[in-house]
Amino acid sequence: MKKKIAGLILIMLALNACSFRSIPQEQELPTSSDSEFIVSQGEEKQELQSPPESEPEEAPFSSSQENQPVQPPEADSSSETDLAPETTEDWMLVLANFENPLPDGYEPELKEVQNGYKMEERVADIMIEMIADAKADGVDLLVCSAYRPYSSQERIFNNSVDAYMNGGKSYEQAVVETAKLIAKPGTSEHQTGLAADIVTPSYQNLDSGFEQTKAFQWLSEHAVEYGFILRYPADKVEITKIDYEPWHYRYVGQQAAKAIKEQGLCLEEYLS
Ligand SMILES: [Zn+2]
Repeated sequence: MKKKIAGLILIMLALNACSFRSIPQEQELPTSSDSEFIVSQGEEKQELQSPPESEPEEAPFSSSQENQPVQPPEADSSSETDLAPETTEDWMLVLANFENPLPDGYEPELKEVQNGYKMEERVADIMIEMIADAKADGVDLLVCSAYRPYSSQERIFNNSVDAYMNGGKSYEQAVVETAKLIAKPGTSEHQTGLAADIVTPSYQNLDSGFEQTKAFQWLSEHAVEYGFILRYPADKVEITKIDYEPWHYRYVGQQAAKAIKEQGLCLEEYLS
């Protein structure tokens, strides 16, 4: 088993974009939306060592207005965002999970948010604004994963299946074992373009230690104002089947984000 796991790690190392996740000792653990990027902690740091100093965009986000309903400015000064409130629309509430794969050919229009990472174009400006506003508050948000295409997920999944089969499993067994660690192609929320993994330069590990950072505290307080939710809360693992991920944020629109946070729901519960 050790050898097999080591093989799996090597595959992940080769394909990794940024995140790391230690291999669960117990195979029955919930999966991770980011587990397709299993690498060692050391590798994680290497990958993210040198983020460019400058933010991709510091300018005011006039372009974000074009995606917002035309509404008079709000008198509400409690929110730091100047985005107009939006109505929650279907595209914001796409559900991608183990039971709900995305439709074949689901491919969002993309725009870069930071360091080459891209998000759904209607969300990208909002993410960029959130990053800039955090920066103004003295908090550095570092995107370490965002959109990931079906093809990369498929490749990673199939490589793992191959590794298990080389270790003597049948194809069916190999798929079952792989699915415990790696989201099946089409079921990763990163394929929606609406999700991003966010860390901070001084703490880039994808683990619960991120909770102790200013970045996490800022996100906990403000992400909802921009329409983002903490997608995989610690107390919803039984529903999401994904381990707690304090770094994974998902855009659902301001209305839904507020409701989800206030009512203490996860997206699955909100949509049911
Ligand atoms: Zn993620």
